[in-house]
Amino acid sequence: MTQKLPPVRVRFAPSPTGRTHLGSGRTALYNYLLARQTGGQFLLRIEDTDQKRYVPEAEQELMESLRWLGLEWDEGPDVGGPYGPYRQSDRKEIYMQYAQRLIEKDKAYYCFCSPERLARLREQQMQSKQPTMYDGLCRKLLPEDALRRVKQGEPHVIRFKTPKEGTITVRDYLRGEITVENRTIDDYIIVKSDGWALYHLAAMVDDQLMHITHVLRSSEWLSTFPLHAHIIRAFGWREPVFVHLSVFLKPSGKGKMSKRESAALLQDGYSIFIKDLEKLGYLPEAVVNWIALMGWSYDDKSEFFTMQDLIEKFSLDHLNPSPAAINFTKFDHFNGLHIRHLTIEDLATRIKPFLINVGLKVDDQKLIQITPIIQERLVTLDDAVEMAGFFFRDQLEYDASLLIGKNMSADESLKALAECQQLIANLDFRKKEDLEMSLRALAEQLGVKAGQLFGILRIAVTGQSVSPPLIESMMILGKVRVMESIETAIQRLRLLVKDDQPNL
Ligand code: GLU
Repeated sequence: MTQKLPPVRVRFAPSPTGRTHLGSGRTALYNYLLARQTGGQFLLRIEDTDQKRYVPEAEQELMESLRWLGLEWDEGPDVGGPYGPYRQSDRKEIYMQYAQRLIEKDKAYYCFCSPERLARLREQQMQSKQPTMYDGLCRKLLPEDALRRVKQGEPHVIRFKTPKEGTITVRDYLRGEITVENRTIDDYIIVKSDGWALYHLAAMVDDQLMHITHVLRSSEWLSTFPLHAHIIRAFGWREPVFVHLSVFLKPSGKGKMSKRESAALLQDGYSIFIKDLEKLGYLPEAVVNWIALMGWSYDDKSEFFTMQDLIEKFSLDHLNPSPAAINFTKFDHFNGLHIRHLTIEDLATRIKPFLINVGLKVDDQKLIQITPIIQERLVTLDDAVEMAGFFFRDQLEYDASLLIGKNMSADESLKALAECQQLIANLDFRKKEDLEMSLRALAEQLGVKAGQLFGILRIAVTGQSVSPPLIESMMILGKVRVMESIETAIQRLRLLVKDDQPNL
């Protein structure tokens, strides 16, 4: 049993540059779990300093996705909090102050190199097979000269003055200590020429000012982690615990999912985007369970977890840094498990919008009766349309030839259905056993298998060859409706029988 942490302050800090995908969902989830488990706080911070990549709709989708998953934040741009603002675009001045402090401490410097010079430098370095890095030209400027040029309005950026000697050792919670030679770390730009701070500075400042204790973020930041540690140490700040989470790979396990592959996935009823999953009939509980296990495990056996279970059982010590392949078959499995875990009322409420969405008029009372007989069979909520849509349709549409029983002629099928009609007219629809026994007895009397007779009746009553249990379905539909459907089926079969007669 791993030791529980004291209350943590953690943050999910997305950049609103695109759609919210599973990877973001999982980062947010792990942060949330840690906060809830320890009685700490979960913050949402919007990292929108990259004006070029900003997508206005992204932020709304992000918040909706998190809320749908049940990941409510305690502090954030919309709910406020004691350490706001929580949107980086509202914190430009703060970053500038901290960049100035680094310059005063001789830990950062103004750089006036033109984009053309930098492009040429890069080209030369590539040709001579050297690492592409800034050559430190402006690092050598006298501070007073640099300041004068800034005051004269000369375009500039601010770069971090990475030490060129020695090494730096950083500690990732999952990977242990990582030591890097300083000369391999570039003098990264921390403030761009438009005055906006870059992630490297902005996130470190915010984590400090917002009292973040643990940074759980994507492992794409591992390569610049030493730079981040340098920045934190340049200020003499306390370092949060850094946890770089595993990356997600496409289902084949080879590489990350591309845009084109994501679009193709949708054709198969899957998606890597959280908002799509809602529309595709997945439960947020299943998404949470599934993504929680992509990079974390409790033991070798347990697989069903509710949010409450996860809050109790989650532990940083059981995170796995290896890449995790997205497995949609597992996802379907989890969705089925969580569907079966719901109460009938809850499941009915969640199915209803899918039925309405295809234009069906849903009667709530009937839906409550239907839900238990389909609960076992649903993989996604929208399966209810195909499985149980007939309950809400006035007319059944099916190919009349389906009314011909297996290994039977149209004539034999017609006779069997007509006998059924007579029998059913006198049966009590409240008694399930009676209905079943009588129909089985009829099959025997007709010399056909129960499966053959039930097959014909299933098409007649539901219009489909796969349906929820037939007897229960008939009971829910009621005798009047069942009799009408059988009558229609008989007429359709008659036409088939006529067609079968040889022309005289
Ligand atoms: N804005 C960064 C991103 O979306 C956040 C990384 C972090 O959590 O620090 O990748």
